[in-house]
Amino acid sequence: MEQPRVGTHYPRSTGEFQAWFRTDADCLDYLDWVRWPGGFTCPSCGHAGGWRLGDGRYECAGCHGRTSVTAGTIFDRTRTPLTVWFTACWLFATQKDGVSAQSLQRSLEIGSYPTAWAMLHRLRSVLVRPGRDRLSGTVEVDETFIGGPEPGLSGGRAKGKKVLTGIAVEVGGPRGIGRCRMAVLADASAESLNPFITGAVEPGSTVVTDAWQGYSGLRSLGYTRERRSQRAARARGEDPGELLPNVHRVAGLAKRWLLGTHQGSVDGAHLPAYLNEFVFRFNRRSSRSRGLVFYRVLELAAGHDPVRFRDLLAGKKPRPAPATWGLGHPPTLERPAANRPWRTGDLQLQLPIPLRLSKYPRPALCRAPDYAE
Ligand SMILES: [Zn+2]
Repeated sequence: MEQPRVGTHYPRSTGEFQAWFRTDADCLDYLDWVRWPGGFTCPSCGHAGGWRLGDGRYECAGCHGRTSVTAGTIFDRTRTPLTVWFTACWLFATQKDGVSAQSLQRSLEIGSYPTAWAMLHRLRSVLVRPGRDRLSGTVEVDETFIGGPEPGLSGGRAKGKKVLTGIAVEVGGPRGIGRCRMAVLADASAESLNPFITGAVEPGSTVVTDAWQGYSGLRSLGYTRERRSQRAARARGEDPGELLPNVHRVAGLAKRWLLGTHQGSVDGAHLPAYLNEFVFRFNRRSSRSRGLVFYRVLELAAGHDPVRFRDLLAGKKPRPAPATWGLGHPPTLERPAANRPWRTGDLQLQLPIPLRLSKYPRPALCRAPDYAE
């Protein structure tokens, strides 16, 4: 498909989203279209064309294998209704700061925190498209500690839970800051920094760094290195903390997002997933339509292999472990029209006093402030 069009291929607003995806069947049909815009293609043999069976599955005309729209995607064998998935996806893609597992659980009546937590982590796990473009032009690169308690708040410079993170930011575009990339680093050695930079930045680019020796091999990797020395900045009377202003601004935004939306409760094992979400949203911050971002997330989700719950755990359980573990499958958001329950309810609300706005006491006339000494 050429460029997807607003209002036809993705909704332009929350109102349109609600009008398009009223039932789980609407959502399934949209996923069907996102996955096979040119019609069904067999995932096992690649044959194009088949029949739709009574249960909604497809039978391949070539190999006669049967498959469902959600099979082989991150929605594979999900027990969460697609209306709930789609609403989670809409919030994830269209909210400026995304959504936390706790607020998702509350607003969509998801019975358990781990279910909401796993939904968001499944969405995060699809965001890095294989073979995506690397950053180019002039790119600032630095490493910083992210996550865990803020120094100064926890007594001492506790860095126990903080994770060293590499940050690369394109600079010098019309808006000053272009795209960014982030990745967790084992340490600040060249052995850790070099793979991060070669994975994130196109060779031939100019890489701006501080004087740290871990960056000294960049030239041999095909980059032009612009080295900014703290000592030289101090000698010039400049603030050495402002050597790499763009990368520090992006790092500050990421830290504030983790503290704000997620209350800083991100452990090291899951930090890479949160960084992927931050980078995905940051790089689409000026997208013309939030609905297009929603479409992109679903497109990635429909093209991604299933993600199992135990793979998401990464050796750790989600923060609170409530008694309702595993029993959190929410009701569908598919609802019949409610026919104005406030009019038809058995118990008419008895207001002690009829609301008559005219009976409210008149506000006292305001006196002009008296400025006399
Ligand atoms: Zn087939």
